[in-house]
Amino acid sequence: MADQWIFLNDRFVKKEEAVVSVYDHGFLYGDGVFEGIRMYSGNVFRLDDHIKRLYESAHSITLKIPYDQEELKQLIIETLRKNKFQDAYIRVVISRGVGDLGLSPFTCKHPGVIIIAEPLALFPKELYESGIEVVSVASRRNRSDVLDPKVKSLNYLNNILVKIEASLAGASEALMMNDQGYVAEGSGDNIFIVKDNVIKTPPGYVGTLEGITRNVIIELAKQLGFEIREDVFTRHDVYIADEVFLTGTAAEVIAVVKVDGRNIADGKPGPVTNKLLEAFRNVVTVDGTKVYETDQIQVS
Ligand code: PMP
Repeated sequence: MADQWIFLNDRFVKKEEAVVSVYDHGFLYGDGVFEGIRMYSGNVFRLDDHIKRLYESAHSITLKIPYDQEELKQLIIETLRKNKFQDAYIRVVISRGVGDLGLSPFTCKHPGVIIIAEPLALFPKELYESGIEVVSVASRRNRSDVLDPKVKSLNYLNNILVKIEASLAGASEALMMNDQGYVAEGSGDNIFIVKDNVIKTPPGYVGTLEGITRNVIIELAKQLGFEIREDVFTRHDVYIADEVFLTGTAAEVIAVVKVDGRNIADGKPGPVTNKLLEAFRNVVTVDGTKVYETDQIQVS
C-alpha cells in the first residue's frame, strides 16, 4: 500500500511517524481548534469557508496560526496531491503547541499544525435509504457564555459525552438541547425539521455550530423554492415534524426517522430530505477548490 503522508508542523511525515509530544496542550487540555473538510472528485468543498471558520475559531481563543490563510490553503492542497487522493476527508488541527504542565498557554511557543487526509470512509449507503434513529440526551449543549459552540475547539468533551449517552441508549446520534430546552444540534451535525412544507433549523444563538453544510442546505432550499427559517424549536416540534434530517461534512444530509422511540411521520426518509440530499450531492461534485488540473488526475 502507498505511504500516507501527514503534514506535521513544517513538513510531511509518514502516518506511522506522525506523533505529537505528550506536552502538547492540544493533548493535555484540548487547547486548540480544528476543521473537518471534504474533497469530492478532486475538488475541496467550500475550502474558503472552512479556512475562515478555522481562523475565526483560532482568533477567538487567541491562537495565532503560523501561516496566513492562503499558505494554509496551499498546504492542504499539497497534502491532498501528495497522497494522490480524489475523494478524501481532511482534518486540520491547530494546537496551542508544546508547553509545560501548567494550564497557561504562554509556555507554548509554537502552535502545532497538523493536516491529515484520509481516503473517504463513506457512511453505509443503507443508512441514507433507511434513515437513522436519534435520542435526546440529558447533557445540555455548552452554553455560549461558557464555551461557545461556535468556536470549533479541540475541547469536544461535551459532544463525546452525548455520543456516549446516545450509544448507551442504542441510538446512532444524540439530540442536544440548550439550557432552555430548545433543540441545538447533534454531537457532530446540525438539525433541520420540516413541518407543513416549512423547513426550520435552530439559529446560532441557540448554541449550535453554524455548520458549513447547514449553510449550503439553507442556500439550496431557497434555490429550490422551499420556505426556510432559522427558528427555535423544542423536542415536541421534532416529534411531530413531517421530516427531520441532520447535516454535516461527514454525514452530508441524512434522514432521521425515529426520535426518542417516536416515528417521524411514517418512519421513512421524506421527499424534502431526499431532494435536498440530491441537490447537495450535485453541488459538491461541481463546486469547490480544484486540487488537480484535469491532466493531473490520478486514481487513488
Ligand atoms: N455541529 C457540530 C458540533 C460539529 O462538530 C459539526 C461538524 N463540523 C457540525 C455541526 C456540522 O458542521 P459542518 O457542516 O461544517 O461539518
